[in-house]
Amino acid sequence: MRKKIVAGNWKMNLELNEGVALATEINKYFNSNPLNEKEVVLCTPFIHLGFVSNVLNAPGLTAGAQNCNDHKSGAFTGEVSAAMIKSTGAGSVIIGHSERRTYYGETDELLASKTIEALRNGLRVIFCCGEVLAEREKGIHFEVVSRQLERGLFGLPAEEFRKCIIAYEPVWAIGTGVTASPAQAQEIHHYIRVLVEKRYGREVAENTTILYGGSCKASNAAELFANPDVDGGLIGGASLVSDEFCKIVKAL
Ligand code: PEP
Repeated sequence: MRKKIVAGNWKMNLELNEGVALATEINKYFNSNPLNEKEVVLCTPFIHLGFVSNVLNAPGLTAGAQNCNDHKSGAFTGEVSAAMIKSTGAGSVIIGHSERRTYYGETDELLASKTIEALRNGLRVIFCCGEVLAEREKGIHFEVVSRQLERGLFGLPAEEFRKCIIAYEPVWAIGTGVTASPAQAQEIHHYIRVLVEKRYGREVAENTTILYGGSCKASNAAELFANPDVDGGLIGGASLVSDEFCKIVKAL
């Protein structure tokens, strides 16, 4: 059975004390309301990671990063390695978020290297893919997502791919308040699962967690998560408010 997961992406928000307070509140909630089979990951800024990891002790609740460098170590001023992330107690890392692709020019090839480096250090990869509005309007969103996965992720052997989660995030839905309809989400999640099956076989595809991301909130989470190929969510804005975020997890 594939895992049901909600990951919060705090992006570049919250000062350290605010982040620790949010993590503490979420941790308290999941100690009182056990996640059971579900998992929740708080993807914080690097600065917060060690502190947040120390605060979290609710079963199934862990910390993650939002990016990592593709090199092991060395003269890369301002960068953070996968090993450093792992050493904070974090267990996951987001790779290929559209904001990194767009603002920092991260290519599919670079993302493939980052993914390998993250896995080599024992991190679980949350690999993002998704089309921009113009691509959806042209009807080429399937090709775009397929290309991103082929180049960024499908070079991995099956035993490494199994340690990855895919997050489908239509760029036109991220931070816009516009959400993919449940039917749109199911259609492309199913398409992604078929791609995984073609590359890695049915058993791997059935066990791959595919998250939806893009203006997911407590009021629309249940209808998105009700789809058979939507295994949870990657949540941006709504992950910054404890009550809202916990309601999204509850909807799973
Ligand atoms: C994200 O940044 O991954 C995201 C899904 O953002 P939001 O939920 O704010 O659209």
